[in-house]
Amino acid sequence: MEIYILTLFPDMIQTVMRESIVGRAQDAGHIKVHAVNIRDYSTDKHKKVDDYPYGGGAGMVMFPQPIYDAVMAVRAQVGREAPVIYLTPQGKTFSQEMAHDFAGEDALILLCGHYEGIDERVIEEVVDAQVSIGDYVLTGGELAAMVVADAVARLVPGVLHNQESAGTESFEDGLLEYPQYTRPRVWRNREVPEILLSGDHAKVDAWRHEQSVERTKQMRPDLIKKAGA
Ligand code: SAM
Repeated sequence: MEIYILTLFPDMIQTVMRESIVGRAQDAGHIKVHAVNIRDYSTDKHKKVDDYPYGGGAGMVMFPQPIYDAVMAVRAQVGREAPVIYLTPQGKTFSQEMAHDFAGEDALILLCGHYEGIDERVIEEVVDAQVSIGDYVLTGGELAAMVVADAVARLVPGVLHNQESAGTESFEDGLLEYPQYTRPRVWRNREVPEILLSGDHAKVDAWRHEQSVERTKQMRPDLIKKAGA
């Protein structure tokens, strides 16, 4: 899978996406994250990408031309349909379900705004979906794009060593995950629950499901109704 992140700050993307599981997945060829510098596509002689908003008001707005040309260049390079997703606080809230949908694509184009955002006309012209990572305002779309890229990447086959772990994670069955424990067996007088040492897989599974339901009731009661647990 290929993920193209269109941004004014490509170094931010390259630094983060080279690390850890996503970095290793890129080295192994399971995914490729491309940071595309929108400024490279500006036809302005000073490589300007933003201007004052019509109608007045604070801040600057990214103008359409460099964004449009960057998207067209990436589309030509990809050579197949790839959805363009604009990261914006005004979009639909990102979810695990959306991550699964995006992971089914061969390629994704993630568009990052900055300053006051981007000219509405380029959104109308090229954007297929608008996605928010939550009800708060960031300075730019880069962190949001990387949140989406990371959540999608771990669902691509081969990226996680133990693919089963992706299936038991929080939200996969509509519940939060059960509590996890590792060595030592006793730490600061706190013991690992006895059942986990029993070797009885059926009992362990039943205990974990119970814990998932309890935890979801406490932390995210809104999810319980949806899960029908
Ligand atoms: N003026 C815009 C508004 O009020 O809706 C906010 C612009 S924000 C300061 C600059 C850029 O950050 C946006 O264009 C978007 O790409 C990104 N951004 C900010 N918050 C975000 C969020 N919660 N989710 C996704 N992207 C976000």
